[in-house]
Amino acid sequence: MTVYSISGLEIEPEKRGADRYLKISYPMRYGRFGEIRTKDHIFGFNRNGEIRTIQGRSGGWLETAEWLKRTAGNDWAYFSAGGYNGAHNYTGEYYVPCLDYQTNTIFGRGKFQSPEVTDAFHAWREILERLETVGSNALPEPAARFVGRILDMTPAVLEKRGRAFHGVIGGPVSVLPPDTRHVEYDVIPVIIADGCLYNCGFCRVKSGTGFKVRPRENILDQLHALKRFYGRDLINCNSVFFGAHDALFAGGDTLSFAAGKAFEILEIEKSVMKQPRLFMFGSADAILRSEDSVFSMLNSLPFLVHINIGLESGDPETLAFLEKPLAAEKVNDAFSRMVDINQRFANVEISANVVVGEDLPGSHLPSIVSLARNRLDHFYPKGDIYLSPLENIGSKERLLAEFNQFKRLCRLPAYLYLIQRL
Ligand code: SF4
Repeated sequence: MTVYSISGLEIEPEKRGADRYLKISYPMRYGRFGEIRTKDHIFGFNRNGEIRTIQGRSGGWLETAEWLKRTAGNDWAYFSAGGYNGAHNYTGEYYVPCLDYQTNTIFGRGKFQSPEVTDAFHAWREILERLETVGSNALPEPAARFVGRILDMTPAVLEKRGRAFHGVIGGPVSVLPPDTRHVEYDVIPVIIADGCLYNCGFCRVKSGTGFKVRPRENILDQLHALKRFYGRDLINCNSVFFGAHDALFAGGDTLSFAAGKAFEILEIEKSVMKQPRLFMFGSADAILRSEDSVFSMLNSLPFLVHINIGLESGDPETLAFLEKPLAAEKVNDAFSRMVDINQRFANVEISANVVVGEDLPGSHLPSIVSLARNRLDHFYPKGDIYLSPLENIGSKERLLAEFNQFKRLCRLPAYLYLIQRL
């Protein structure tokens, strides 16, 4: 690929990254993008000219090959490789996203106060000033077009685009399913139903409204607006999140319609990224009322389908403590259904969340061991169990010890849930 050098900058307008998401222990970039390198930093830009990643080339960054990544909603995450022994054991990933906003506190927020990160943001603004001074006219094509696009995407424009993105879907996505880690959280969100069934007392991400499926025209409007929003970068997208909190309860007809239209309108077939995936949340009621025909339909979609079910606990006392209006018997039945579906439908994977936290009744942990060990005759590699930390996790060491104890007993893969918004 051609590299242009000017004013201390190496400009590479067209780079090719991996064409599928990989779990590897060194930094990987995906799809098509452009890059500007200085002696201290590597800046990655998507095909619209929006800053996408920043990586250091010196100091603390160099040893650990960590990087910053910007979302379509204009948040930044710091992908950390080190400092947390056994990050892969805890999260299933080699790099852990550390966030600059309120979330669970297992993996730190302090990264954004570090000098490397402050310097990186400063350096990005400097790059914009230098490019402005150089001017795109001084550059040969296609560097001129690439730089022109970058100069259009000032911090103020990116902020405005973040708001426009949220405007399309009706507000920020308060939480993504944990399974979206498989695509480094790169999903296009489409809200097919608002609200949820239970409005549990403990939940920090609920909308507080009753469950309501969106009209088909609204789903179509979102898809067309999202296609326009992603623009030239659409070819890098191959995965979709159906929001908000219980898309599975929207039912087979709505899911089939929305998935078909998403695949068509978002031109997933043309994506340079292989292995498209569809993510959604579901509830115990949703999985129990969905007949096999719904899972057959999902299984036949041109996506790998990931459904994350919030079970929270198999213990009546804990469910009451959480103010989750669900009987323990229903949780047990939903878990059995999840295991059954995971074994019968190759392209559908259902995972489940259970809570962890300091104040929970002593009967909670035995109840989830009873679900995820005693009900299974051997280890199954499909159907992750995510331990979702509550607001009060108490001591981090105690929580990680509890996690490790559970993981040793669990007959399904077990990880911690890192809450990430979009
Ligand atoms: S845990 Fe799930 S069902 Fe309960 S309030 Fe939160 S989003 Fe709704």
